[in-house]
Amino acid sequence: MSSRVVLLGPPGAGKGTQASLIAEGGAGAHIASGDLFRKHLGEGTELGALAKTYMDKGELVPDDVTIRMVLERMEEPDARDGYVLDGFPRTLEQAKALDAALEDQGRGIDAALLIEVESEELVRRLAGRWICRRCQAPYHEAFSPPRTTGCCDSCGGELYQRDDDKPDVVRARLETYERQTAPLVGYYESQGKLARVNGQQSVERVTEDLEAAFGA
Ligand code: ADP
Ligand code: AMP
Repeated sequence: MSSRVVLLGPPGAGKGTQASLIAEGGAGAHIASGDLFRKHLGEGTELGALAKTYMDKGELVPDDVTIRMVLERMEEPDARDGYVLDGFPRTLEQAKALDAALEDQGRGIDAALLIEVESEELVRRLAGRWICRRCQAPYHEAFSPPRTTGCCDSCGGELYQRDDDKPDVVRARLETYERQTAPLVGYYESQGKLARVNGQQSVERVTEDLEAAFGA
């Protein structure tokens, strides 16, 4: 069943891992703002170069360019009926812009799902994360290793470690999350759309809890 779902949670909580599983389960398109920025970076666009200056410091890319990029992506045919938003919105301004765009279509999001994980565990997860250069699938060298070292299970692409998963940038990203993104929890709670899920369980259990929370 297609749905319009926002995944909230700090860096390393498992948003990308879960968004792709929920999307494959039929919720709709997996739209990850970080992946969109990395795609621009890989293609050498002006937006990619701009985004990199913020990503390298663990800061957020300005709202105007981020909102435009994600809303445009949401208009593509695969996202017509449903989507799982991963990493967007990350500020109150982005959340309000999303609500306003959906309201224009007489719609709203169905649920905002918060994946909760302690900060020590987040640091461990990000330090061991490897990403597929081609399809962006995340792996962990200890918790969910690929079948062949350095090689993506699903597309065979090369795995790499993100520059912004280095410890000093991770620290900055966690601070950015607390300061700018954590307030969204109250925003969605006041709309009666927030559900909290324990992210420190197996990947399968987290998926089950998330799907139960939005009624998949
Ligand atoms: P986010 O998109 O929220 O930054 P990811 O989905 O990329 O997080 O996950 C961060 C890291 O943690 C990855 O290396 C991933 O393989 C690993 N991971 C994701 N979910 C779990 C889990 N439930 N248990 C252990 N490790 C996990
Ligand atoms: P992620 O892949 O979600 O961890 O995002 C990587 C980086 O991309 C972040 O640290 C930000 O610099 C940038 N980014 C991703 N999504 C957003 C967003 N919604 N708003 C602003 N910056 C973002």
